[in-house]
Amino acid sequence: MENLVILGASGSIGQSTLKVVRQHRARWQILALTAARSVDAMVRDCLEFTPRFAVMVDELAAGELAGRLRAHGCETRVLAGEQALCEVAAHPYADSVMAAIVGAAGLPSTMAAVCAGKRVLLANKESLVMSGALFMEAVHQHGATLLPIDSEHNAIFQSLPLEVQQNLGFCDLAGAGVSKILLTGSGGPFRYREVDSLHGVTPEEAIAHPNWSMGPKISVDSATMMNKGLEYIEARWLFNAAPEQIQVIIHPQSVIHSMVQYKDGSVLAQLGNPDMCTPIAHALAYPARVSSGVEPLDFFSVGEFSFLRPDAARYPCLRLAIEACAAGQAATTALNAANEVAVEAFLQGRLGFMAIAGLAERACERFGGAAVGSLDDLMALDTQVRHQTRQWLEV
Ligand code: NAD
Ligand code: MG
Repeated sequence: MENLVILGASGSIGQSTLKVVRQHRARWQILALTAARSVDAMVRDCLEFTPRFAVMVDELAAGELAGRLRAHGCETRVLAGEQALCEVAAHPYADSVMAAIVGAAGLPSTMAAVCAGKRVLLANKESLVMSGALFMEAVHQHGATLLPIDSEHNAIFQSLPLEVQQNLGFCDLAGAGVSKILLTGSGGPFRYREVDSLHGVTPEEAIAHPNWSMGPKISVDSATMMNKGLEYIEARWLFNAAPEQIQVIIHPQSVIHSMVQYKDGSVLAQLGNPDMCTPIAHALAYPARVSSGVEPLDFFSVGEFSFLRPDAARYPCLRLAIEACAAGQAATTALNAANEVAVEAFLQGRLGFMAIAGLAERACERFGGAAVGSLDDLMALDTQVRHQTRQWLEV
């Protein structure tokens, strides 16, 4: 039996992870589940999976969860607060940690798992966006194993040779015969809408992704293509890629999850129905394979594949992210923090859709040159940028 910790268990990735584990109860047992404040979901999942620990970030929610579990005779120990996330992530009994908290809030606990040398299944791309260099150094230094969950990076990982898979962050792509990583994205729900009408996009329209079912923040990021920008930065660190080694391609069907082009002209790809249970099952079982419950791909119903070049006017966030990646960790941290605040404001109806990019750009300009040498510096910069972005929102 392998012990699994799921950080962000109540979310979209957390629930898909439980769906895969449910099919393989003899192989994985849940050591800990964590959530911010979703008590109902945590009661249900603790009763089903009887983890040793359940963590709620919110103290009141933790009290309520503990009371309800006690009433059911469930022996799961309930812990509260952010520090407890790091404690379960680094717990000596944990074999694997699914890092599926959304946003910068996921960085400390994901890093705690890395520093404890765990097998880390990385969904929280924001960790790498903020601290890519420090993060990959910590993976190396503490002997952690990193397995990408983001469908594109999981596809790239699967299409790369073993020598690269085993040396993430420090691999030599060119030496392994790779000429380019082809990072695909659907283009979101507005890829064919008039650019001039995009300022009027509503939150409901933005979170209705045509192919994937995901949490609200990443759904908005997919619509702006900030998600692809964050994934570009994620790919840069995971695969030690230079700017000219990553190309973004719009592929509206979301069946090819990304590709690797080799210098002999071969292109290897990973394909499948758009369902996160596939990369989750892959990373859980790697290097073995287990069933994920995902329907096999039916090429006759897919019919056709198409490819487009991303349009800079439609997706300013993509350009900003690529520029921030070249500028360094202060810029990517600023971009990420401003984006999180802007997306939240957009979802609450306080900011226009196209204004998200404006705030991200302003934050990169103001804070992109900040000196950041440590994780504490990055977390402090994140706080500072959030504060400033909220002020910009008020005027
Ligand atoms: P979600 O919003 O559905 O779930 C987020 C989880 O994080 C919940 O369990 C929530 O309780 C927890 N959480 C929220 N704020 C927190 C905080 N401040 N402290 C601690 N826990 C907190 O998000 P999601 O769509 O599952 O995405 C999770 C991560 O996976 C993100 O980084 C996202 O970019 C990445 N990802 C998601 C998908 C997808 O299909 N949903 C695909 C690729 C990558
Ligand atoms: Mg993705």
